[in-house]
Amino acid sequence: EGEASNDYLRGLNPEQREAVETTEGPVLVLAGAGTGKTRVLTTRLAHILATGRAKPWEMLAVTFTNKAAREMRERITHLIGPSAEGLRWLGTFHSIAAQILRRHAELVGLKSSFTILDTDDQERVLKQLLEAANIDTKRWTPKSLSGLIDHWKNRGWTPDKLPPGEDFANGKGQGLYAAYQARLRSLNACDFGDLLLHNITILSQHADLAEEYRRRFRYILVDEYQDTNVAQYLWLRLLTASTGNVCCVGDDDQSIYGWRGAEVDNILRFERDFPGAKIVKLERNYRSTSHILGAASGLIAANRDRLGKTLWTEDDSGDKVRVRGVWDGEAEARLIADEIETARRPHAGEPGLKYKDMAILVRASFQMRAFEERLVMLAIPYTVIGGPRFFERAEIRDAHAYLRLILSEDDDLAFERIVNVPKRGIGDTSVQKILQLARQHDLSALTAVRGLINTDELQARTRTALSNFVRDIDRWRQLSETTPHWQVMETVLEESGYTDMQKADRTSGQTRLENLKELTQSMQQFETLQAYLEHVSLVMDLERATSDDPNGDGAVQIMTLHGAKGLEFPLVFLPGWEEGVFPSQRSIDEKGEKGLEEERRLAYVGVTRAKQDARISFAANRLVYGRWTSQLPSRFVDELPIAHVDPQSDTGYYGASSGMKEAKSRWDDAPSFGSGYSSPGWKRAQSFTAAQTPAKLPARKAVIEGDGRLIATADPKSSSGWKK
Ligand code: ATP
Ligand code: MG
Repeated sequence: EGEASNDYLRGLNPEQREAVETTEGPVLVLAGAGTGKTRVLTTRLAHILATGRAKPWEMLAVTFTNKAAREMRERITHLIGPSAEGLRWLGTFHSIAAQILRRHAELVGLKSSFTILDTDDQERVLKQLLEAANIDTKRWTPKSLSGLIDHWKNRGWTPDKLPPGEDFANGKGQGLYAAYQARLRSLNACDFGDLLLHNITILSQHADLAEEYRRRFRYILVDEYQDTNVAQYLWLRLLTASTGNVCCVGDDDQSIYGWRGAEVDNILRFERDFPGAKIVKLERNYRSTSHILGAASGLIAANRDRLGKTLWTEDDSGDKVRVRGVWDGEAEARLIADEIETARRPHAGEPGLKYKDMAILVRASFQMRAFEERLVMLAIPYTVIGGPRFFERAEIRDAHAYLRLILSEDDDLAFERIVNVPKRGIGDTSVQKILQLARQHDLSALTAVRGLINTDELQARTRTALSNFVRDIDRWRQLSETTPHWQVMETVLEESGYTDMQKADRTSGQTRLENLKELTQSMQQFETLQAYLEHVSLVMDLERATSDDPNGDGAVQIMTLHGAKGLEFPLVFLPGWEEGVFPSQRSIDEKGEKGLEEERRLAYVGVTRAKQDARISFAANRLVYGRWTSQLPSRFVDELPIAHVDPQSDTGYYGASSGMKEAKSRWDDAPSFGSGYSSPGWKRAQSFTAAQTPAKLPARKAVIEGDGRLIATADPKSSSGWKK
């Protein structure tokens, strides 16, 4: 048979090969970062096809992102040629579930032409339902209900299966949820969570159908298994026969979606559900140098809640992980941009890196702004993965629209954008009417409104709303004559209700507020509002200009740590390793020790993205609410084993080593600062010391061993070893 042309198997190590060739029965590959889990999955798929065990359409392969699915398809095509084209069931959980649902939509009361609602539509529907039920939508917002319903769906709970205690608006949770589902049905629509939930309903109620799928999917493969949530797990179970040929790969140390309901327990459950499952461990890391691996392993060893594993590498080349303390956020951006340029230059006979070989991985998207601006200034091409660039974000555009309208009565585009954001009860029809009348009389929209509010062209309620709006704009305009523009921005966001609107959004409100905070801070560098807005247009324009790529150099990749899962880059920058930023204060406040461990796993994911070079940085100062605050280096910096770290203290900046020591001593003293010392940074530091943080982290042991060689020992006292 096809074994003759099994070139694709060559180069695999024995354990990898075993995972690839054990095609029958359940297989769980549980292994650390960069050990070739995804490669095993891809090769396994190719192997099953090449040996004729199944046709492409009989394989179900689940990846975490669409990008990962595309890459896997490409790699398989590369391995075995065009027969990979028939892989119809290779995709994300959502994309595959949508395909299945289209075929059986009528079983859950939908037509196969159903639409998938986005969050805006979803909230509009919920708002109507809340109003119909006479519920105060200020107190019980559509946004928070939509977040809650998502959460329920991720757990696989239909309205009738909602456990007691899960509720909204004092006893109305279940009713609202049921009404929402009914309403979606009448709209011939479903939301994202429904894709899986409807699948689960269909497959569990129609045994014959489920059986048909179980027969069809002769081989099932799942990447990033540690991040599956309950609904995804149930769905997989329904599609997998108990003797099924299912192969899941994952790494408990990289579980970073706890807030989305992902459960590491799924990994443990696998062994229970599939007795006799083959468990394959991969221990050799092919991605990173020993310093990178040593640093990452030392870090993750501080987590208590882990299955534990061995990792080793043969790659002894490369530098230690650089850790650098800088003065502030701008200095950090300058430093990284400079290092990007340096890395591009040929060095010691080695060719330089291309832009696309480098990535900046941030904890939160607000951190991107400083880097984007710096790169734009130096005409270094970059792309923001998994989201719009900073100035293209909806909330930033909204904020700018307010400023533009304050600055210029004539800015109709700005008017249109924000006249009803947040919602003021000025409907689309009214807005269209205003714009039309304005055009007829050759006036700007805002000027037209000034006249209209004194006529009865519009409904009384709309007129009131509009006159309030005009009054607000005028007040802010006046304020802007006497007040620094960034303070005007803050006032506008507060008084317009924009901030409250975001606060009510449980899904992405927090992120948007952080971006807005970053915005007001960056405004402070400019003398006038005019100058600031000009700068923004310039940056946006330069971004367009730098987007072509004559040398095939690609672009520096900027993304969040969450978005970087599964990826790898020769050079990785990890900025903002400061307490409160990373680990994020919010995670710790909300989830305590569990939250901290998840943050640490995220740090582990970050460091292990690097192949040759990882560079961590932290700033000693950040502008928070217009006030400089001292930042403490992240405890994760301290947890990196010194043997693998190069603290760059000879830079003339606020160097890592002195910074660490100073921060340490201040840290120890923090509670005694008492009152008087009011900067938020310090308050945070104090609450850390006082409440959530275990004073001493658990002792760390030697962590990496391979081929009898000790690659790293993590010493709990390494923090004192910052002297070289
Ligand atoms: P992560 O946990 O980050 O998702 P992973 O376990 O999925 O990592 P892969 O991305 O599959 O790891 O592999 C990491 C790198 O190592 C890739 O560049 C891959 O091509 C390479 N690699 C894997 N196995 C081998 C091998 N046997 N020989 C050479 N290179 C390998
Ligand atoms: Mg992978």
